[in-house]
Parts: sequence; structure tokens; C-alpha cells
Amino acid sequence: MTSKVWITLVIVFLLHVGTSSSALCEELKTRYASVRYDDINLLQKFNDEIYLGRQLSQQLHQQKAFTIQDELHNKLNLIVEKVETVLDMFPAQLYVTIVLLPSSKEVQEVYLQKYGKRVNHVAYYSLSEKTIYLSVDDVNLKVLAHEIGHIVADHYFQVRPPYKIHELLAQFAEEHITD
Ligand SMILES: [Zn+2]
Repeated sequence: MTSKVWITLVIVFLLHVGTSSSALCEELKTRYASVRYDDINLLQKFNDEIYLGRQLSQQLHQQKAFTIQDELHNKLNLIVEKVETVLDMFPAQLYVTIVLLPSSKEVQEVYLQKYGKRVNHVAYYSLSEKTIYLSVDDVNLKVLAHEIGHIVADHYFQVRPPYKIHELLAQFAEEHITD
């Protein structure tokens, strides 16, 4: 085979790899977030792990949902709006990306790659990317409410408050999400 043929084969292969990996990345768009995931099972598990508690569940059951996507869409809207109520902060514009990762290992790998630091987070909110990275293995309503607390605070203040205040607000959202 001539070298030209080889180069063509390599390029075709790279194109193939490129398209197959991007085809894997799925997206669920909601009012406040774009949820990114590589595998429908991950989305299903995420939806299963987010049990809303009695009060929010009642509101959820009043809404139509035919698919997992519909149910998750409704849940995320309810959680964001509940966190806003708990914090008494209603930012005019709120939109983020939520990246679902299988376990804390992947969350920590992303963190290490971006910040060069080893951490033991199961989820974190990147202020610069407006993105939550979270481990579906470890997620529950409180973990999600905490990260959404960061989002609401981040979108509310025009001048970002000190990190400790941000963290206190997120903890408050986490504590009171089922009130
Ligand atoms: Zn936090």
C-alpha cells in the first residue's frame, strides 16, 4: 500500500472515532439546565436516585410525564424553583450544564485535569464554566440541592460574594430542600 492510502485510512479512522464518540454524548434540555450524559442508563439511574421527598413528590405527580426524560425535566424544574424559594433569591437568568458521570472517580479525574488538584468531591460546580459535574453513584436530592444552591447564588449576585458565603448558601439550600 502506498503511504497516501495509509494516510487516507488513518483519516477515515479518526473521523469515525470522532463521530462515534460525539454521537454518544446525549443531551436533555430543561428550562434551567442542559443535562449531558453518555448512556441512557446513567440518566435513568440519575432519575431514580433523585427522590424528591413527600412535598415535592406531590407536586411532581400533578405534572404529566411519559418518559424518564419528562420526569427528570419536571424534577429539575421543581428543585431549582424550590432552592430559589428557600434562598429567597430569584435570578432573572439561570441556565447551566449538568454533566452526569458514573462515579466519583470520574468527577475527581475531571477536577484533577482542570485544576491539577486531587480532591474527594462527589460533585462540584465550576463557576467559570457554569457547569455541575456529578457522580450518579453518589447523587441524591441533598447533593443536587447543594450544587443548585451554588448555581442560584452565582446567578443572583452581580458581584460574587466571598467563597464562604457561597458555601453557606449552598449548605442552607441542601438543609432546607425538603421543608
Ligand atoms: Zn459547596
